[in-house]
Amino acid sequence: MNSEKKKPIKVAFPHMGNVYIAWASALRKMGIEPVVPPRSSKKTLELASIHSPDSICLPYKLVLGNFLQAIQDGTDYVAMISSPGICRLGEYGQSIKNILKDMGFENKYVELQLYDGFKGMYKFLKELSGVKNPLTVIRAINIAVRKMFVLDRIENIFSYYRAREITVGTAEKHYKQALKYIYDVEKTSQLKKAEKKAIQEIKKTEIDEKRDVLNVDITGEIFLVQDSFSNQSIEKELGRMGVQIRRSLTVSGFLKDAIIPKIFKKGETHLERANRMAKPYLMRDIGGDALESVSDVAFANESGTDGIIHVSPFTCMPEIMSQNIFPSMRENCEIPILTLILDEQTGKAGYITRLEAFVDLMRRRKLYKQKKKNCTVSNTEICNQAESKNM
Ligand code: SF4
Repeated sequence: MNSEKKKPIKVAFPHMGNVYIAWASALRKMGIEPVVPPRSSKKTLELASIHSPDSICLPYKLVLGNFLQAIQDGTDYVAMISSPGICRLGEYGQSIKNILKDMGFENKYVELQLYDGFKGMYKFLKELSGVKNPLTVIRAINIAVRKMFVLDRIENIFSYYRAREITVGTAEKHYKQALKYIYDVEKTSQLKKAEKKAIQEIKKTEIDEKRDVLNVDITGEIFLVQDSFSNQSIEKELGRMGVQIRRSLTVSGFLKDAIIPKIFKKGETHLERANRMAKPYLMRDIGGDALESVSDVAFANESGTDGIIHVSPFTCMPEIMSQNIFPSMRENCEIPILTLILDEQTGKAGYITRLEAFVDLMRRRKLYKQKKKNCTVSNTEICNQAESKNM
């Protein structure tokens, strides 16, 4: 009798924030060994830049770099999430496949049609693993999707604590530990307990509850919003300045639109909100996350947020369009907007200066609004005089 067990196949996915945690659990459920590439870094970028087309967008290079590093680490397959996209996203899959083919790695490339929704994910996992039991595949999708929602909830709590922490870096230390708790969970039934444990971990951070914190939304191209390497740790920098972040574009929000069947959806999805709120300014999808970005500005304005930051990669056409729409929104939206275009050449010092200036502007605006609110009818004139001196 052959006692040697068949080795599980190894599959790698590209990084995008904490998505690797959800993917790893889905793959493990299917009997596949997940290969998590090293976190994106300069090395990732250098490796990819040699093989990438000129002036291609930053997310492409990082995805390719992740794949090349995973291949170096011995993965059997690299899994590309493909989409029909109006922008270059529609070409990503074929282009990366061609590059890998030229390098002799063609047979390592597999593709997931995520935009085929639940069906696409089901087919992908089934074919990749060879597992025929539909229940196993459904369980794998279920745990991945649920983990993504948990991760996004934890992210919000982390953001609250980071903006108020007394010692810089403590919230992040606890957050990293919290992520480990979620990563290790194997069963959906254990997820609630792990989420509680993760939240308790973050709550260990010593904070100043009374700190005057600003609330800022972040929108733009989804990869950049999620990926701390390409957005130059924008959330960490803002947290240090006492800013609590709310990501307008989340992976769980995307999954709610793309994967979760309609009957299980509660409330308005992000895409539905985008279609509703972008309307006066942008009438249809023009690719990427432009529709969402425009609507997120209108939403942030309506919800009284202190400001909104729009991040996009250099040469990203859909986001160039949305940035050009923002000025015309100023008629109805008084919220401060900061637009940041990023690529591998973006210098950190100038970038931080822009963030600091924006935070300063939001603080003065908040103060001005508070003062105005405190002015009673009888002292309106005095207040107006004070305002004109201040502003
Ligand atoms: S949305 Fe922008 S960055 Fe993303 S693939 Fe399209 S062009 Fe590139």
